[in-house]
Amino acid sequence: MNATEVMPPQATPTSTPRVTIATTWLDGCSGCHMSFLDMDQRLVDLADKIDIVYSPLVDAKSLPEQVDVGILEGSISNEEDLHKAKEFRKHCKVLISLGDCAVNGNVPAMRNPFKLSDVFERAYHDNVDLNPQIPTQGVPSLLPVVRPIHGVVDVDVFVPGCPPQADAIFHILSELIAGRVPDPSAVTRFGA
Ligand code: SF4
Repeated sequence: MNATEVMPPQATPTSTPRVTIATTWLDGCSGCHMSFLDMDQRLVDLADKIDIVYSPLVDAKSLPEQVDVGILEGSISNEEDLHKAKEFRKHCKVLISLGDCAVNGNVPAMRNPFKLSDVFERAYHDNVDLNPQIPTQGVPSLLPVVRPIHGVVDVDVFVPGCPPQADAIFHILSELIAGRVPDPSAVTRFGA
């Protein structure tokens, strides 16, 4: 990715150019999205420059055909995660892996040393206090191995942290809005 690939956002002669942003959470705890909201007052400042066109944080639930910046939280643990990651890659010009789960698998990937059948056995059969029925209806199938986002699609910007602090998210979005390639290593790190 280079700076000219990041932006500029789509503009019309009669409107202020805005960067369109889509976000979603995959296998994570939603803490990275909570950190996004922790930008607080700065969200108001950003509101003049961005449009959140798809996100669990807003009502829009249909991913537009073209989006400037896609932000994915969480890792790829099931078929639905896989589908969403591919859709974001297809429709987003710049794709951001937000948080350690997205960047390296983090907590969800702790099941990787074990066979999926052993994970189910431990979760549903070894604990008699839980419903012993393994759900098969209405839930996406788990994948045998949890993968980070870049394990299934190309990622442009990696933002580690659990979660990345609001200051770091603001910095990265501001850089992208300004048409620059952000350097997340300057503002966040794994486990921060
Ligand atoms: Fe939650 Fe941390 Fe994973 Fe973000 S990186 S989804 S805060 S566990």
